[in-house]
Amino acid sequence: MRRKLAAGNWKMNGLRAALSEIEALAPKAAAAPGCDVLICPPATLIAPAVTAATGSEVMIGGQDCHAEASGAHTGDISGLMLRDAGASHVILGHSERREDHGERSEDVHAKVEAAWNADLIAIICVGESLDQREAQNTLDIVGAQMSLSIPDGVTGLNTVIAYEPVWAIGTGKVPTTDQIGEVHDFMRARLERRFGAGVGRSVRLLYGGSVKASNAGEIFRVSNVDGALVGGASLKAAEFGGIIEALA
Ligand code: PGA
Repeated sequence: MRRKLAAGNWKMNGLRAALSEIEALAPKAAAAPGCDVLICPPATLIAPAVTAATGSEVMIGGQDCHAEASGAHTGDISGLMLRDAGASHVILGHSERREDHGERSEDVHAKVEAAWNADLIAIICVGESLDQREAQNTLDIVGAQMSLSIPDGVTGLNTVIAYEPVWAIGTGKVPTTDQIGEVHDFMRARLERRFGAGVGRSVRLLYGGSVKASNAGEIFRVSNVDGALVGGASLKAAEFGGIIEALA
């Protein structure tokens, strides 16, 4: 069975004072033994977040990494550096990276391989824009992003896929449960076809986009939804704790 995963993406939010939210998550994670709990804070907080999470079930991840392990890339951070700081996961190909930094699926592909080389679990994000959904291209877009972003070499353990419709991120708009189910079933079938039933069934599929404690229960009942990638609602332990509880 796939373990549930509640993953928080703090994006460019969080000063050191926010580390208390990670400490406050510890009892909530302990009360949900069937659910993995991950926080991806900004890079400046990774090492202190790892310290704040020591002794708890809370895991810490990065929000991006470079495709190379080291070198002349001012401002970038490698997967090896994230691992060295104590991270276990890294989010790759988030739509804000694709948009703000022009990341293409081919770039994401290279970053995923770098993350694996650094012994990190890659959380690969895919999802359509509003225009693409309205043109009924959602499955084509998600399928193409999966083909190009996901390298061969997936195991059930080294990869998580997050479906995040761009129009649902930070907007309060959430797809219907039928729409989420359609995409998640499609992603599952595609993974099984490409990697075989064993691996394809063991990769966890997260939904992301305006998840909060009050809508989490309904979303988590959708087939092939194994958890959530949560932005705004992961910043406060009280709210994120409600999402963890809905998964447990
Ligand atoms: P949101 O962001 O939960 O604030 O909509 C989700 C994400 O971008 O991962």
